[in-house]
Amino acid sequence: MSIAEPFEDARAIHDVAIAGAGPVGATLALALADAKLDVVIADARAAGETRVADRTLALSHGARLIFERLRVWTPLASMPGAVTPITAIDVSQAGGLGVVQLSAAEQHVPALGYVVSYRALSQVLDDALARAGVDVRYGASVRSIDPGREDAAVRFADTSRAESDSTLRARLAVVADGTASSVPGVSRRRHDYGQVAVVATVTLACPHRGVAFERFTREGPIALLPRGAGYALIWTRSPADMPSLLGLRDDAFLASLSAHFGSRFRGFAGVSERRAFPLALEVAETITAARTAVIGNAAQALHPIAGQGFNLGLRDAFELARTIRDSPRDAIGSPAMLARYRAGRARDRRAGIAFTHGLVRLFGNDAPWVRVPRGLGMMLLDATPLAKRAFARTMLYGMR
Ligand SMILES: Cc1cc2nc3c(=O)[nH]c(=O)nc-3n(C[C@H](O)[C@H](O)[C@H](O)COP(=O)(O)OP(=O)(O)OC[C@H]3O[C@@H](n4cnc5c(N)ncnc54)[C@H](O)[C@@H]3O)c2cc1C
Repeated sequence: MSIAEPFEDARAIHDVAIAGAGPVGATLALALADAKLDVVIADARAAGETRVADRTLALSHGARLIFERLRVWTPLASMPGAVTPITAIDVSQAGGLGVVQLSAAEQHVPALGYVVSYRALSQVLDDALARAGVDVRYGASVRSIDPGREDAAVRFADTSRAESDSTLRARLAVVADGTASSVPGVSRRRHDYGQVAVVATVTLACPHRGVAFERFTREGPIALLPRGAGYALIWTRSPADMPSLLGLRDDAFLASLSAHFGSRFRGFAGVSERRAFPLALEVAETITAARTAVIGNAAQALHPIAGQGFNLGLRDAFELARTIRDSPRDAIGSPAMLARYRAGRARDRRAGIAFTHGLVRLFGNDAPWVRVPRGLGMMLLDATPLAKRAFARTMLYGMR
């Protein structure tokens, strides 16, 4: 965990330098930890620091399998309140026909997914990086990645030393900073949904038994994800509604939420402080550049409607680790290796983005000529075991 002397590393060439030790960057570093490679990971945050505001992450069953392999699942699951299993999902639309119900028992898995605290996950991953002896540079804010023929120069400001600059050189630089802002060369397309997500924790009058709800309403989808004894609420609304929704008294907010759920769910008891953030789709035009690969939210930031974004990012990390491990050392970061990573991610990535974007469009239109066939489609899906199983497998493992 040493902080580099300025320019200390300018001559040494690492195999892989990762910008960002968030959940996705840390997963990549852990997946390479036993590969006898020289891996360094830099993060702008200080050691032991995580986000001030916690976030709720939706993890698929496939993500759990990745964390099990990296031996971080058991410590995570044993942290009080860090993981809540989703045992069933109930999807419905307000003012229309059609309900889809999925259950873990029906799919023969212990849970359909897990609701996880971002802060708890970060802590467990930071501990695992330390245990594995990974070279982590905290307080290192990456400013640029400059590719050369044989390696890339990763320049960062050392925030613990009055902004003195340092450089790491690596055969492969990986951008996992959540925003791709440290690589000027990677452009991202942005589609603004013109929506905001209002998030809060809701307490309940009776136990939730692990059932998650997705409710499509005229004003936008509402997700209730079981978290601890209550629900994490993600309520998609128009930006114009946000000030009044955030400003409502708790009882009025809960009354409005209940009204949107109708008979599908009753029993909200209390609500925490509410926050809101804008919703957009941001996709890197390409996930590779010379001597550079992009993973996680830096590669694609999705609408939270289907809980796919974080899981897609984890699969980026896992696939990149596999591609690196399968390459001879001197081929790490080469055009051929990067092309293999790009090809390996193309289908899953394209399908995950299209699936999420398609859902936003399908359920964002409340015209009767859309609502009625949509309800019939949902009824058909619920009544057709094969189709339901295919849908469930997508939620569990992603698009394969
Ligand atoms: C506002 C918001 C709310 C969200 N809510 C949800 C939700 O409710 N449910 C859900 O499943 N997903 C949610 N997501 C998505 C989820 O947070 C991401 O899928 C997940 O965090 C992606 O992990 P990551 O490691 O790619 O990026 P991040 O988690 O963003 O981690 C990036 C890491 O890089 C570091 N970093 C940043 N810049 C630099 C730099 N220049 N140099 C070095 N280090 C740097 C940061 O300190 C951080 O540790 C939300 C995202 C946002 C933006």
